[in-house]
Amino acid sequence: MSDPIFERIAIIGAGLIGSSIARAATAYGAAGSVSLYDASDDVRARAAGLDIGEVAGTLADAVKDADCVILCVPVGALAPVAQAAVPHMKEGAILSDVGSVKKQAAEALASADDGRVFIIPGHPVAGTEQSGPEAGFPTLFRNAWYILTPQSGKGEAYDAAADRLKAFWVVLGSKVETMDPARHDRVLAITSHLPHLIAFNIVSTAFDMETVEEGEVVKFSAGGFRDFTRIAASDPVMWRDVFLNNKEAVLECLGRFSEDLAALQRAIRWGDGDFLMHEFSRARTIRKAVIDAGQDSGAVNFGRNQNGAKPDA
Ligand code: NAP
Repeated sequence: MSDPIFERIAIIGAGLIGSSIARAATAYGAAGSVSLYDASDDVRARAAGLDIGEVAGTLADAVKDADCVILCVPVGALAPVAQAAVPHMKEGAILSDVGSVKKQAAEALASADDGRVFIIPGHPVAGTEQSGPEAGFPTLFRNAWYILTPQSGKGEAYDAAADRLKAFWVVLGSKVETMDPARHDRVLAITSHLPHLIAFNIVSTAFDMETVEEGEVVKFSAGGFRDFTRIAASDPVMWRDVFLNNKEAVLECLGRFSEDLAALQRAIRWGDGDFLMHEFSRARTIRKAVIDAGQDSGAVNFGRNQNGAKPDA
């Protein structure tokens, strides 16, 4: 293990992402020590029992000695938490976040800027549908993208701080890319936000039909529907905040999606098999490209056995 990138980091919000960063930073030697804080007494008590860092009793205690403070709270909570944290941070420390939306996150962090700390937002494109400190694991970020959205023209010291943050995520195993926040939000709207919205919607439609079909939707839920239920089990607070804070890009994607869905609907109605073949074949090529890019496993049915369990579960 090489020298730690940061002597001490502070994680605010000890849920899935926060506790995974804490675990990974220790496991891979990216930080000399880790302090954690969560607004919830219950989460703090549970995190303290997991041995993933020093759990502080107050936000101020958690951040006061940290070289880098990473806010791992829902996007809607970023501004008040950043404003409460910054006055207690060391001069020259980094304030970052992991919010899934970057334009609003950047504004939220900037609202706390007092000129003494470096504000560098970021987003690890990795996660699961689980929440809470027990759900985290150290390998979550390995081979996953981490998108850094630094401000430009802030000077050499700022750029050096951004390089340090980048180096931290590289030690955690991530592939780092730098992006403009608005571009990040447009890309993630189609690759992550819209798929989640579709999953929430299909599961809720099926739930309504369930009362009509007397339990058969759940009983016969094979691959397709089952995969949607996994995505739709994601944290409701996190996703409420994603949609409230990436409204423009999501509505733009949703407009395009609705038009394409209407075209498929028309093809089914008029028996246009050629159109359906064309669209489905194109989609299959994209799946192959995702696997070739190492973004998913090419194993049949994601490597599940016939009962739906992962072989290593
Ligand atoms: P999570 O497991 O629910 O953890 C969030 C934690 O933050 C909870 O323990 C929550 O406590 C706490 N919290 C809420 N408000 C707070 C405040 N004001 N001060 C301190 N702690 C507070 O959620 P997560 O999945 O880790 O998501 C955290 C962030 O990561 C979100 O911004 C999300 O957009 C981003 N992210 C998530 C994923 C993913 O797949 N889950 C992937 C990439 C990025 P309570 O539960 O008591 O409210």
